[in-house]
Amino acid sequence: MEQLQENQLVSELKNVVGDDYVLTSQEDLAVYECDGDTLDVARPDIVVLPGSSAEVASVIKLANSYGVPFTARGAGTGLSGGATTVNGGISLVLTRLTKIVEIDPDNLVAVVQVGATNSSVSKAAEKYGLYFAPDPSSQMASTIGGNIAENAGGPHTLKYGITVNHVNGVKVILPDGSATVFGGKARDCLGLDLLGVFIGSEGTLGVATEVFLRLTPRPESAETMLAFFSTVGSGGEAVSEIVATGVTPAAMEMVDQLTLRAVEDAHHLGLDRDAGAVLIVELDGSKLSIESEKKVVCECALAHGAFGIKWAATDAERAAIWKARKTAFGSLGRIAPNAYVLDGVIPRSKLAEAIRRIAEIGTAHSVTIANIYHAGDGNLHPTLLYRKSNKDEVVRVMQAGREILQLCVTLGGTLSGEHGIGIEKLSEMTFLFSDNDLKAMGWLHEAFNPDGLCNPGKLVPTLKSCGESGTRELLRYKVLS
Ligand SMILES: Cc1cc2nc3c(=O)[nH]c(=O)nc-3n(C[C@H](O)[C@H](O)[C@H](O)COP(=O)(O)OP(=O)(O)OC[C@H]3O[C@@H](n4cnc5c(N)ncnc54)[C@H](O)[C@@H]3O)c2cc1C
Repeated sequence: MEQLQENQLVSELKNVVGDDYVLTSQEDLAVYECDGDTLDVARPDIVVLPGSSAEVASVIKLANSYGVPFTARGAGTGLSGGATTVNGGISLVLTRLTKIVEIDPDNLVAVVQVGATNSSVSKAAEKYGLYFAPDPSSQMASTIGGNIAENAGGPHTLKYGITVNHVNGVKVILPDGSATVFGGKARDCLGLDLLGVFIGSEGTLGVATEVFLRLTPRPESAETMLAFFSTVGSGGEAVSEIVATGVTPAAMEMVDQLTLRAVEDAHHLGLDRDAGAVLIVELDGSKLSIESEKKVVCECALAHGAFGIKWAATDAERAAIWKARKTAFGSLGRIAPNAYVLDGVIPRSKLAEAIRRIAEIGTAHSVTIANIYHAGDGNLHPTLLYRKSNKDEVVRVMQAGREILQLCVTLGGTLSGEHGIGIEKLSEMTFLFSDNDLKAMGWLHEAFNPDGLCNPGKLVPTLKSCGESGTRELLRYKVLS
């Protein structure tokens, strides 16, 4: 954008949202140049923080009149580069929209603005014995808008499903600045399911400003188990057998030896450093049902060589068990300063094979890979550890990541269980989708976003974007070219 034009736009944006909420200094812009996917860095030209739906609409209309791209951003915890401004333009940050507008316990609905954090919704609903079930591990920071755009999951996805299963409606500002509502306070299923289309569209079809969320009654009781296995494979077999019995735990999470050692070194939780894997199983529901399910879970675990089985006796013990899982990514920072977290999905029965082949890929590329799994639903988080300053290592990490995603697809799975495609997996979409599939997705994009200004360069590859994305030069494409 030319300087004069940019100055005019900045001045008009300030008229809409106020001087304090338009940022243009390089120091300020640097804060918004990437999300949790730090391989993809592209600085916006302007950051705007609107304070209402009406302001969001006005900002989008201004962006249209200047022909400037805009990209919605929540907390920036995304792991696929979704909020990164690959064409520059406006980073439209929604973190001022934090209001919990209404908790309606009779209809099990919360009406919230999109900048509210995931955990703030459950906190507001707590006094009614309700909560918002999708629980990404980033829930203290990530926003409802980001959760909806990425169709976020979490450890309890196994029993409760992903975000799309817990949203009745979304108020949206479309890419031309007009306002609409998909769905509503009550769930409906009339006409085309545009709510379903919008959820998981990664901010490419418009900007959500307010949401009608479905709340879930808190279970009467919950019990949490920790068990060790000599290998990830035997833990995976136990997981498959538990599911095959018909028991659906609320969560089944596993981490491998490299990860559990990093967690133990960081937090001293008393984990067995010699174990090959640690499995966490959580059961919830009535006390009666939990008692019988506990027996089944223990039998399956023991049948596959589990040792050191421990059920939390107190809330503090339960929190300590979850700490082993929830601090896993952070603890890996002890091994290397940078981590590339994948989230491919495989059929649960292929877990042992996937683990073995991921290790082979790591060896072939001399890349250290730690493994964290939402084991119950086959959602893998192979975490490739590296130093960004080492370009050769970056290349090997990207090649290994691509092979792991190819492996997930070959095993009958898919590219992403929850982090989305963003820029990160754009080139790999062709592993899964034919030209015609991608063309159909492109039509949908064009119908919503004909000028391509709303979060360009994400989710659906065009012929051009298979080798590059956006106008900013990204490390991803630089090192691989
Ligand atoms: C430590 C850690 C753990 C994580 N664990 C999980 C996990 O368990 N499960 C999981 O699913 N993810 C997880 N994530 C990924 C991330 O937290 C989620 O994708 C989350 O939903 C992103 O929310 P956000 O507010 O940070 O969105 P951002 O990163 O800011 O944006 C994500 C995408 O949403 C779009 N967007 C944001 N707000 C809006 C809006 N109002 N309207 C339209 N589009 C919008 C953006 O354009 C972008 O494409 C984790 C991330 C980290 C760093």
